[in-house]
Amino acid sequence: KNVKKYFPLKKSVFSNRHGHVKAVDDVNFSIFKGETFGLVGESGCGKSTLSRVIMRLTDADSGEIKFDNIDLLKLKGDPLRKQRGKFQMVFQKPFESLNPRRTIGQIIGAPFEIHGSASGAEKEKKVKRLLELVGLSPQYINRYPHEFSGGQRQRIGIARAIALNPKLIVCDEAVSALDVSIQSQILNLLDDLQKEFGLTYLFISHNLSIVKHMSNRIAVMYLGKIVEIADAEELYANARHPYTKALLSAIPMPNPDFNKERIILSGDVPSPVNPPTGCRFCTRCKDVMSICSEVAPEFIELNSKHAVACHLYTDAEVQQQPVLLNRG
Ligand code: SF4
Ligand code: MG
Repeated sequence: KNVKKYFPLKKSVFSNRHGHVKAVDDVNFSIFKGETFGLVGESGCGKSTLSRVIMRLTDADSGEIKFDNIDLLKLKGDPLRKQRGKFQMVFQKPFESLNPRRTIGQIIGAPFEIHGSASGAEKEKKVKRLLELVGLSPQYINRYPHEFSGGQRQRIGIARAIALNPKLIVCDEAVSALDVSIQSQILNLLDDLQKEFGLTYLFISHNLSIVKHMSNRIAVMYLGKIVEIADAEELYANARHPYTKALLSAIPMPNPDFNKERIILSGDVPSPVNPPTGCRFCTRCKDVMSICSEVAPEFIELNSKHAVACHLYTDAEVQQQPVLLNRG
């Protein structure tokens, strides 16, 4: 709720810029239990900062991040560590996120040590079971990360993430660094694990096709703000925000007969240091109106499956009290 994270810019001999990078600027959404919530946007839009803030790897400046009704931003020390087991992360770079000097048995077993939940033979048994779960042979337990391929390393990262029976897993570009042929295997593995353990995913990617494949609901982010949230099907069938429409029009279609007008965005993504006033998309929007550069559009809920922040849609279209953005 109202989550903000700005990074101050320091004046230096190399740069006289000052101000703040508004990486995450007043973001609101809820993730429902058992769903995959997709977060999509171009690189630099604030997705990774948002995921790090949710994971408490970076402190938010303000806002609330509630997990099972506990405000994580208010927790420190032991109470935070206790909650930490419930949310885990799968990182983009499967090699960099694994310590090269530790065996995969040590890497996957580390969460048990940190949380004191298993050691010795019991820990080994659990690690072997996790290796099986992610499709790797338990015999690999004493090998090192460099002995594995990219896809296998991502399986190791997933095994580590599920070790403590988390409820939420944040996947930040979890397959972006992998070959396309391997991507689908990892996505299928994530799918299987979700079914087996009732996991909830926050699935972050710049790739709309992948997000569509994985998600129940999707939020679209642009320059630190969420501009549209909808059920996945609804978003693809009936996108309302001009930015979402442009992103969708850029997805290659397998059927060449399907006639789709490609919307080319003009200009570059503006700097998040001094983002445009009013609607942040106003410098690139083909539907821009005079109000757009003056007033930031409020989020309005078009129906129970769809909310959008854009002046093209007015309160007259709102049918009910917001439930999508904050439920309970
Ligand atoms: Fe375009 Fe205006 Fe809507 Fe922003 S608020 S997306 S500039 S029409
Ligand atoms: Mg990122």
